Formats: sequence, C-alpha cells, structure tokens
Amino acid sequence: MLISSFIFYAHFVALKVIIIGPPAVGKGTQCEHIKQHYGVVHLSTGEMLRQAVQEQTEIGITARKYMDNGLLVPDSLILDMVNARIMSSDCKDNGWLLDGFPRSAAQAEFMVKHNILPDIVILLLAPDEVVVERISGRRTDPATGNVYHVTYQPPPIDIAEEVKKRWVQRSDDTEEKIKVRLAQYHANLQGILQHFKGMKVSIKGDEAKEIVTAEVTRALDEVCKSILYQTV
Ligand code: AMP
Repeated sequence: MLISSFIFYAHFVALKVIIIGPPAVGKGTQCEHIKQHYGVVHLSTGEMLRQAVQEQTEIGITARKYMDNGLLVPDSLILDMVNARIMSSDCKDNGWLLDGFPRSAAQAEFMVKHNILPDIVILLLAPDEVVVERISGRRTDPATGNVYHVTYQPPPIDIAEEVKKRWVQRSDDTEEKIKVRLAQYHANLQGILQHFKGMKVSIKGDEAKEIVTAEVTRALDEVCKSILYQTV
C-alpha cells in the first residue's frame, strides 16, 4: 500500500533538493519537472539576481557587474536573500529545490551552519565541450521566458519566425564568459560536495532529456520513499 501510493504521497513530502551542474547542463529542464512532480518551491539564485538587475534594486545594480563578467556575486549580496526565501512558509510547507546555490564552499558552510540541509544533492554531469556548445547556442524569448537552443531545441515551427526576431542571448553566455564560469564551477565543486557527504546522486546530463528525467525521478522517488518509511 505504502509503496504503490508513494508517488501520490510525494506531493506531501516537503522534499529538500539541491541540484548542481555546470551551466546549461539541463538544470532548468529538470527543475521544471521536479517542481511539477514533487510540488517543491524552485529557488534559482540566477533568476533572483536577474530579477533584481531588471528591477534595478541595490542588490541588482551591484550584482550586474559580476554577472556580466561571468563571475560569482559576493556572498554579502546573496546569503541573506537565500536564507530569507528558504525560511518562508511556502518553502517550509512544500519543500524547496535550490538551483545555483550553493556555488562555493563558503555558501555550503553557511547552509550547514544554519541547518539548511537537503535530503538529496543531484549532480548533473556533462563534459566541458558539450557545455560550451549548449551555452553558446542558448537563446531566451523575453516575451515568454522560454529557453531555446539554436540547433538542438528551436522554437516550434508555427512561432519560430516570431520568436527568432525577439530572442536574446544572455550577456554571460558568450564563449569567453562560459570559460570563466566553467573554471569557477570546477574550482568550487569539491568544496561544496564535502559538506553534503552521502547525499549526492550523480546523473549524466548529456543524455536525451527523457533519460535524464527518468534518472532524476528515480533518485527523488527513492528519497521520498525513505522519508515516508521514516515517518510511518
Ligand atoms: P545562473 O543562472 O545560475 O547561471 O547564474 C547566473 C549568474 O548569477 C552567475 O554567473 C553568477 O554571476 C550569479 N549567481 C547565481 N547564483 C549565485 C550564487 N549562488 N553565488 C554567487 N553568484 C551567483
């Protein structure tokens, strides 16, 4: 009974997930799936910062200088923002999915110190050359927020002309900036993971989207099951 209905119950487990991976490995696609399937609150620090830049808040104005150069923004701008968001009632009730945070050992340490601990850390893997190709072809439609790839994920044929006229490339998605972002990612990864020993599940991110989604679902269902077993 418990096993056959745990997929239903998964919506009632306040799951806490960190997703980590190099830029453009497919975190956005998986986050969309996880959010819908497990009902968690998706917290993307990149999105929060882009929003702040767009609204020209104090944080946004300072963060922009770093973001435009592919550099991490200082912790002073981001730690309180994330902490406040995680402590809010929607995250407490529904669980959370951290995407883009922690990005350094110091940010992981902050989480541990504040007892913000995930149930699982999903690490999406892809070789650097795949990442560079994926990012340099990435485009966003400002009207809908939909993300496309010029070759691998073009807009649907009926709206392609229209979307291509307005789509934009993120200022940090150029090949030069990607190299900086990837170098930072590799330099920080082990420092982050050492704080979450025994929680990591590695999944190949350069497979077909459906295969990656199935692997992610399998890993998260396992965690939901173990949480449910602990509570009965
Ligand atoms: P993303 O959309 O996750 O690739 O983030 C875009 C940019 O936002 C990054 O290149 C950083 O400049 C900044 N950023 C996002 N999350 C963080 C974080 N946790 N710490 C520092 N900077 C971040």
